[in-house]
Amino acid sequence: MKWYRQLHWQIILGMVLGLIFGIIAAKFQWSEFANDWIVPFGDIFMNLLKLIAVPLVLTSLVAGVASLSDFKKLSRMGGKTIGLYIATTAVAVTIGLLVVNVIKPGEKLPEKTREELKAQHQSTASSKSETAEIVGERGPLQPLIDMVPDNFFGSASSNSNMLQLVFVSLLIGIALVQVNQEQRRPVLSLFEGLQAVVIKLVNMIMLMAPLGVFALITKTITTLAVDDSGQTDLSQVAEILGALGYYCIAVIIGFALHIGLVYLGLLRLLTPVKVGQFFKAIAPAQLLAFSTSSSGATLPVTMRQCREKLGTSKETTSFVLPLGATINMDGTALYQAVAAVFIAQATGMSLDMTAQLTIILTAVMASIGTAAVPGAGIIMLVIILEAVGIPGEGVALILGVDRILDMLRTTTNVTGDAAVCTIIANSENQLNPGGNPDRPRNRRPNQRRRRPQNKSAGENQNQPKEGPTESNHPRRKPGNRRPGSQNRRPGNQGKPPSQAD
Ligand code: ASP
Repeated sequence: MKWYRQLHWQIILGMVLGLIFGIIAAKFQWSEFANDWIVPFGDIFMNLLKLIAVPLVLTSLVAGVASLSDFKKLSRMGGKTIGLYIATTAVAVTIGLLVVNVIKPGEKLPEKTREELKAQHQSTASSKSETAEIVGERGPLQPLIDMVPDNFFGSASSNSNMLQLVFVSLLIGIALVQVNQEQRRPVLSLFEGLQAVVIKLVNMIMLMAPLGVFALITKTITTLAVDDSGQTDLSQVAEILGALGYYCIAVIIGFALHIGLVYLGLLRLLTPVKVGQFFKAIAPAQLLAFSTSSSGATLPVTMRQCREKLGTSKETTSFVLPLGATINMDGTALYQAVAAVFIAQATGMSLDMTAQLTIILTAVMASIGTAAVPGAGIIMLVIILEAVGIPGEGVALILGVDRILDMLRTTTNVTGDAAVCTIIANSENQLNPGGNPDRPRNRRPNQRRRRPQNKSAGENQNQPKEGPTESNHPRRKPGNRRPGSQNRRPGNQGKPPSQAD
């Protein structure tokens, strides 16, 4: 396929053009034109992505859990997935703490700049700490109560209730596993059918991705360039970046170390997937995460890329990724650790070992509860700050660069979800690198390609195809083929999964 027809190149092009146009718009005071005529396309794109988040999480998790067919498998996969998510998050926070303690960015911030930054963002910081105060003042088990909705439609009515929706979907899936085959089959088919429709919607929405990304990047640049008096001033962006340069560098080094050492190390050790292959496969999801700053909005694309390009099975993808988008935020946790210590350093507070351990614990917990939407990480950061005795208003220091770091931490979050999904798929022998279902690399010798006999749902998951294939299509039996398909060998449809019907 020609490079310009590939999605990730189209998205990169959209980003570069958005950056150039954003700078021009800020420089020549075209912000109003950009807001009226360009930015709305970014909002439409974001709305479309958010629109399918609830149906996607619901259908994927219900179908994913129900197709696990027995409790043993469910608890094994659930345990491995949640264990790996929490372990990688704890490592991410530790890396963040190591980097920030070595670089000490807070001590490099001149006194005058500290005062200016605080004064500039004081009002926004106060509103963030008020929100966090409400969250922090509740009882210790409140997060658990919040996770259990009292109304199904309530949990599905807002993207910010994603943790509730995950809980409800898991419950429905578990209940489905327990009813008899006859009752389970039609319900599972319904959810699987709906999931296929949602995935088709993703493909349709992604046609708009280059334009949407162009508009989103334009919006980011023009918003960053607006100063306190409402005037557009591009030099302000450079000034903020200069003052908080070391802090940004510390966060970025942390992300790079985490991705390079943890994700790539684990992928190398535990899967046959090559580094280049991994990044090539998930590039569109990473670019989208960078442009939207929302791992929730990116979820449909992450799922699509993992299934079609990395070859993770439908069963694993449907279970691991929606869960990951909600509870796995390594980038956010790492950033929170760096930010907390940076603020302490900048305000002349010293954090002893106990305080740093408290940061690890609260950052891991906070990242689980952070909504997969732009800017959610900084609200949870206030809770971490208060846990170690740093005033929440300290976030005023870092607000200026938060959007840029949000783009990067969301990219890290999504990369982590995809890495864990690949590892889990491989551990379950459900990974098909390259995405060609006809040539699984890790098929065991006794797993020769055979038509399954009387298999229950989800047991033949080595074929990461979206929709029904020639071999499993309920109505397309060998004697009932579409014109033009007569010469295909059984089991070899000859087309890559990305083109599957
Ligand atoms: N924007 C991040 C995400 O969606 C969450 C955050 O750190 O603000 O993954």
